[in-house]
Amino acid sequence: MPIEIKDIVSKKILSEVKGYLDIGFTHSLNPYTGCAFACEYCYVREMPIQKFKDIPWGSWVDVKKNAAENYLKEVSLLRRKNKPISIFMSSATDPYQPVEQRASITRSLLEEMDKNPPDSLQIQTRSPLVARDLDILLKLKEKCRIMVSMTIETDREDVKRIFRPMLLE
Ligand code: SF4
Repeated sequence: MPIEIKDIVSKKILSEVKGYLDIGFTHSLNPYTGCAFACEYCYVREMPIQKFKDIPWGSWVDVKKNAAENYLKEVSLLRRKNKPISIFMSSATDPYQPVEQRASITRSLLEEMDKNPPDSLQIQTRSPLVARDLDILLKLKEKCRIMVSMTIETDREDVKRIFRPMLLE
């Protein structure tokens, strides 16, 4: 299936958490909207962001070109107000899906975090592309708490194809 990829300018990059993430995180951060991994079990399929689309989940990705710029603005404001900043990246996309290889939005965010770190950052991904950013993650870990969490459903290729038909990594 071809993927429709669009560059967009987003109003904000940090979203205050509610629901299941309200367990110590203050904000979620999604560098993209949409996700080319298209997991069968992905709950975002049922969210309004997909429900109002006329193309299927997994076939479109919006690239938030101004993500790092927004991060700087929003974190500076939160710091002025003395607010805690504990970020979950990402709750509704994968920050290391294939388009990240060329768009580097996640990397640009990490570079900005290196200059203006949050209190903590948890990265959730299923992609080995996260290893590309090890250099910056190691620098960042001296400035804030970091966790990288990997999704691995199974080590069986036949089962993997049922849950995630688009093998794009
Ligand atoms: S990687 Fe995550 S966000 Fe992307 S489709 Fe799979 S479950 Fe959804």
